[in-house]
Amino acid sequence: MARYLMVEGTLARGPVVLTGREARHARVLRLGAGDRVQLCDGRGQLYTARVVTVTRDRVEAEVLEPAPAQVMPAVSLVLGQALPKAAKMDLVIEKATELGADRIIPFTSVRTIPQPRASTRLLRWHRLAEAASKQCGRPMIPEVTDVVPFDEFLRMTEPLPVKLLLWEGEAERSLRTLLREGGRPGGVALAVGPEGGFAPEEVERARARGFVPVSLGPRILRTETAGLAALAIVQYELSELA
Ligand code: SAM
Repeated sequence: MARYLMVEGTLARGPVVLTGREARHARVLRLGAGDRVQLCDGRGQLYTARVVTVTRDRVEAEVLEPAPAQVMPAVSLVLGQALPKAAKMDLVIEKATELGADRIIPFTSVRTIPQPRASTRLLRWHRLAEAASKQCGRPMIPEVTDVVPFDEFLRMTEPLPVKLLLWEGEAERSLRTLLREGGRPGGVALAVGPEGGFAPEEVERARARGFVPVSLGPRILRTETAGLAALAIVQYELSELA
């Protein structure tokens, strides 16, 4: 069944109208009156709806009932990503969404390469997260925050029970060992450094805020690879992909 993400709040107010990209997609699928679709409120709830009318740029549907509750991920995953170049950040948002991140927090750190700030980048990131959620069939769109300084990221992740700093300088503790030692936490934060890596004083500040440095093995991964690899490992070890 085709699935459409709705603007928050619109599902509670009677007939639902799809326009723009959503309507074009419905036309491509040749949806007609009477066809069933799923509507998603972007916060984890799906509804079954029936198409009432289809015109060139508008589809009207009526909500029939909530779809059976989705299995929500057992672990809340937060990915802190030192801001890389624009195309790499886009890739991280798309893939981290597929891999089940619930929150993506881009941050600047000492060695982050300064970039011009495109006024539309947050909107683009939200659109990427929305499109990737739709494509991979997850009912909850991850939150993507605006870029924050590294210390603000450390503060934002304070309540999470497990906080891991991906650090190529860590010789002893691998991500897998740490996850296997630690049981099943309710939430995990991952911090990934920039192209030039974390500065030593940042590693220390993160440690002081409860982050444990972990290694992803002997090879130095690119920043956009490291976070995605870590997300897949966490999901596997904490069983969503297993
Ligand atoms: N400072 C490094 C250098 O220039 O040799 C490279 C940094 S790496 C390209 C970017 C980020 O990916 C790092 O800050 C770290 O968070 C993560 N990373 C890459 N390889 C890693 C590994 N083997 N173990 C843990 N983290 C890794």
